[in-house]
Amino acid sequence: MGIFSKPRLRGTEKREDMPEGHWHKCPGCEAMIHHLELEQNLKCCHHCGHHFLIGARERIAMLADPDSFEETDAGLTSGNPLGFQGYLEKTSSLREATGLDDAVVCGRMTMGGHPTMIAVMDFKFFAGSMGSVVGEKIARAVERAIDERRGMIIVSASSGARMQEGMLSLMQLAKTCGALARLAAAGLPYISLMTHPTTGGVTASFATIGDINLAEPGSMIGFAGPRVVKETTHQNLPPGFQTAEFMLEHGLVDAIVPRAQSRDRMIDLLGFMMPL
Ligand SMILES: [Zn+2]
Repeated sequence: MGIFSKPRLRGTEKREDMPEGHWHKCPGCEAMIHHLELEQNLKCCHHCGHHFLIGARERIAMLADPDSFEETDAGLTSGNPLGFQGYLEKTSSLREATGLDDAVVCGRMTMGGHPTMIAVMDFKFFAGSMGSVVGEKIARAVERAIDERRGMIIVSASSGARMQEGMLSLMQLAKTCGALARLAAAGLPYISLMTHPTTGGVTASFATIGDINLAEPGSMIGFAGPRVVKETTHQNLPPGFQTAEFMLEHGLVDAIVPRAQSRDRMIDLLGFMMPL
């Protein structure tokens, strides 16, 4: 058969009875899932348990006591300290597309009655990269937790430091860790939840220094990507390299918590570390 007479590949034709955007294919088991079903199941596949990405605001709604969340430092946006070409246009179009000011949402809330500050990263905004706004908002959230005697929760989802802000991005690693050291000195708990993916400068700073480090099942957690590690070390990587399960086995993660259980688990942990 000549190449030009090949039949079209199966699945490339759109089904007319399937409205666009209502169905999602599960990357774990390839099942088609209706978006309402996905919403009801906290964006997890009910066949194989695959955890889909979720936005910062959805995550906060899932974790906070009803009506307890009060956002802080909304409206902080990046400058363009390096004069990086197209950077301001890119962040401005992302703000419009996502309704977020930058890649993290912070605020006060209670969880099971425990006073907490929370910072949740959103991968939709610039792949969750950490520039000066992300670092500043997280540091301020930690400082508020110290001033107001609150527990700290950070939910990470990040491709790492934001290269468009160069050294100013890398400075956020030290700044966030410094703030968390002061939180520890004040005797207040910090719970880190790593979600898919948590990589680069975020893994190398605040995401992995929780009093308790939790992870969602199947999340990729690492510093450099597997391809870079393989090319640099010239070694074959072990199976499951850079998954949450691998990190649990090797001691970087304390527990893997399915999304549906994360609120209850965090409330239990806060109860141990800062009893009401
Ligand atoms: Zn699935």
